[in-house]
Amino acid sequence: MNNKKVYIAYTGGTIGMKPSEKGFIPESGYFKEQIAKLPEFESPDMPQIEMNEYEHLIDSSNITPEDWFKISQDIESRFEEFDGFVVLHGTDTMAYTASALSFMLEDLSKPVIVTGSQIPWSQMRTDARDNLITSLMLAANYEIPEVGLFFHNRLYRGNRSRKLDASGFHAFQSPNFPALAEVGTKIKVNEHLLLQEPAKKLKIQKIVPPKVVIVSLFPGFDAQMLESVINSGIQGLVLMTYGMGNAPSDDPALLKVLKSASQDGVVIVNCTQCYKGSVDMCGYETGHALLDAGVVSGFDMTPEATLTKLSYLLSCKLTTEEIKQKMQSNLRGELSR
Ligand code: ASP
Repeated sequence: MNNKKVYIAYTGGTIGMKPSEKGFIPESGYFKEQIAKLPEFESPDMPQIEMNEYEHLIDSSNITPEDWFKISQDIESRFEEFDGFVVLHGTDTMAYTASALSFMLEDLSKPVIVTGSQIPWSQMRTDARDNLITSLMLAANYEIPEVGLFFHNRLYRGNRSRKLDASGFHAFQSPNFPALAEVGTKIKVNEHLLLQEPAKKLKIQKIVPPKVVIVSLFPGFDAQMLESVINSGIQGLVLMTYGMGNAPSDDPALLKVLKSASQDGVVIVNCTQCYKGSVDMCGYETGHALLDAGVVSGFDMTPEATLTKLSYLLSCKLTTEEIKQKMQSNLRGELSR
């Protein structure tokens, strides 16, 4: 009998959904019943498992920061009893949740693996079985002191991952950081890439529903519209810019809006629209103009990591200057510097 113990927090998502007339829907009790039939759970290699099915199973498009807090509290309350944790989640917002948890679970010393599937467990060609079983193996048997996202034979750092395919099995990628583990006939964990185990005990930090927005630039962008958004009382803005972090430098209205927002204490973070690579505001005049307007660099963070990190920092008791400084520092391996 395997003496490793893994706790599963089942929040919803396609993985456990049931077919209905309106398409796939989550239904309480259904997934537990389905997986109980799997002979692999009787294998001596299988860790001991406890699954907590959440009261309201959700399609992850409905996830909120309040749900992230519930997941964090759930993990914290059972932390000492288990070797690792698996969070079953829908794929649509999985990268946001994995990023948010990486910041909220401070001083994490055990694996928290977020996974799900593109096809429900109950269906013939499901990818749920492999994703769940391998996540359980990773959570039980490896010292991975961080939040990972496992999908289709790859374990990614949670805050480096993005959903980049709406229907393919290889739905997630980590454009700016290598996979933490590759799974083939063997499980190969790239130990040199893992975060250091913290000396302190786990504690959690709530993300208070933030007044934060993501705005993407495009040719013809109207600065007045951005001004309306800023005037709605936001505290943080993730500005999705071109290439290495460029924006039109010959639009004084845009630069004025950004500068005055920044002077009023809005934290504006520059995040590239590119799939891969990093912001460097010193590369072009068009990037430099943003730097002069008080915009801070998001370097090579994903939009999901940038947004959740900004929300997390705005929820901590920090000054605007401290938030700006931490946005540009590596807190959980989310940024290369
Ligand atoms: N809409 C589903 C969800 O995010 C998709 C999935 O799980 O793959 O919950």
